[in-house]
Amino acid sequence: MGDNLDLALSLPVAGLHIDLVRAPGQLAEVLAKARYDLTLSLGAIDGRNVWRSDLRQILSMIEPVVAARGAERIILAPSCSLLHVPLDLDLEDDLDVDIRQWLAFAAQKMAELKVLARAVNEGRAAVSAELRAASDAAAARRTSLKIHDPAVQARLAAVNPAMSRRVAPYAEREQVQKAILGLPGFPTTTIGSFPQTDAVRKIRAGFAKGTLSPAEYDDALRQETEAAIRWQEDIDLDVLVHGEFERNDMVQYFGEQLSGYLFTKRAWVQSYGSRCVRPPIIFGDVSRPKPMTVQWSSYAQSLTTKPMKGMLTGPVTMLQWSFVRDDQPRSATCTQIALALRDEVVDLERAGIRIIQIDEPALREGLPLRQADWPPYLDWATECFRMTASGVAPATQIHTHMCYSDFNDIIESIGALDADVISIETARSKMELLNAFKTYRYPNEIGPGVYDIHAPRLPTVEEMADLLRAAARYIPAERLWVNPDCGLKTRKWDEVRSALGNMVAAAKAVRTLPNAAE
Ligand code: GLN
Ligand code: ZN
Repeated sequence: MGDNLDLALSLPVAGLHIDLVRAPGQLAEVLAKARYDLTLSLGAIDGRNVWRSDLRQILSMIEPVVAARGAERIILAPSCSLLHVPLDLDLEDDLDVDIRQWLAFAAQKMAELKVLARAVNEGRAAVSAELRAASDAAAARRTSLKIHDPAVQARLAAVNPAMSRRVAPYAEREQVQKAILGLPGFPTTTIGSFPQTDAVRKIRAGFAKGTLSPAEYDDALRQETEAAIRWQEDIDLDVLVHGEFERNDMVQYFGEQLSGYLFTKRAWVQSYGSRCVRPPIIFGDVSRPKPMTVQWSSYAQSLTTKPMKGMLTGPVTMLQWSFVRDDQPRSATCTQIALALRDEVVDLERAGIRIIQIDEPALREGLPLRQADWPPYLDWATECFRMTASGVAPATQIHTHMCYSDFNDIIESIGALDADVISIETARSKMELLNAFKTYRYPNEIGPGVYDIHAPRLPTVEEMADLLRAAARYIPAERLWVNPDCGLKTRKWDEVRSALGNMVAAAKAVRTLPNAAE
């Protein structure tokens, strides 16, 4: 409740729910201040995560409350609505037997509450077997080698601040990169994905079902990739992408290749509206057994002399769009992911990829509710991004991408990522985002999205050229990139072809201005 506790306690209500998972520390104050006849709902089971509870530990917290206030005025509850957790662990028929012991979805959480209620009403002895099982599972989880990987721990312990700083400042990197890449002013690129057509989905489904052999699968994806590269060359884009045809989802694709991640079959949760997602579960120390994207990126680069952009999902987004372990700080899990991705970045560089994009669309949504808690989050989140990005030489150009606007209040942290280039959603707001740059001089290069990929509407050359001219009023023209708002996987090829064709024409139009910044 924080500062709101006194207000909440002054309300004319019969009962008050408090979250004892996020803020167990508030219990003492609530007890000291709450009216004696106020019913207290103790949110003791985590409603936001998938982990089984150590019920004895919870009992030690709630038994004294019951003793002091009487069982009739205590309600036991999850910490919040169960909207955020999947329905039923029993629907999963294929889980590792140990890991299953550590999990609880909504149905299991309700069963945990019943055990707690019986323990409180009838004494712990009435549910001793259930309590022992829960504690045993918790104890096993604390020591299991499936979770605790000494090599990852050793690496984490050896992390030092220099690892999350590029070896040269942007001003120097810019010089080398410009010399090596030789791009025109207002360079054009895209955010990564190209249309996930029925054909592409069929290829992936066929492989999953086993009707396509690994060789046939590879071959089909190679053809898609090659075709995407040829037409990017045809329309004269400057920095190419391979199209992400091999990826089911930007988090799942990487999670499936990392240790410490678990995927479910039916653990769906609502994302927004009627859209549901099946977030992976990060259950253990994260490491990367082998390179994840190097083969596709090198194949794509081998087909063209233009620079091919490597494409990775960043550590904060990997964390944010998963269920995260609750036995260590989120920042520690994020650092493990960052170290695994850092190796991928270095491997891409070694394979000859000169531009690498690390997507972080979830950076902003990770912000804690209370603004006072923002700085520590932003510190470790930007540190983890830089950890991922900083293993490479100054000549390697690091891009990042974020969707959605409203970065004005965290613009300094966006700057602190120290990405050489950032692409960002701005088209829907007509470059309103750029207001932030009136007062804050973004230090590196920016590609403010020049058209909204969420609509099928074809953007004209003129309107995109206008947006670029508007952007050039805030950001030096030599630091501007030209790209759409986001990835193009939800669009159709004919839309993408005409839109990007116009985009390239818009870039060429502003390049010819004697002084684009005016
Ligand atoms: N590279 C990803 C894509 O183009 C980025 C997706 C995103 O920003 N959400 O699909
Ligand atoms: Zn995006």
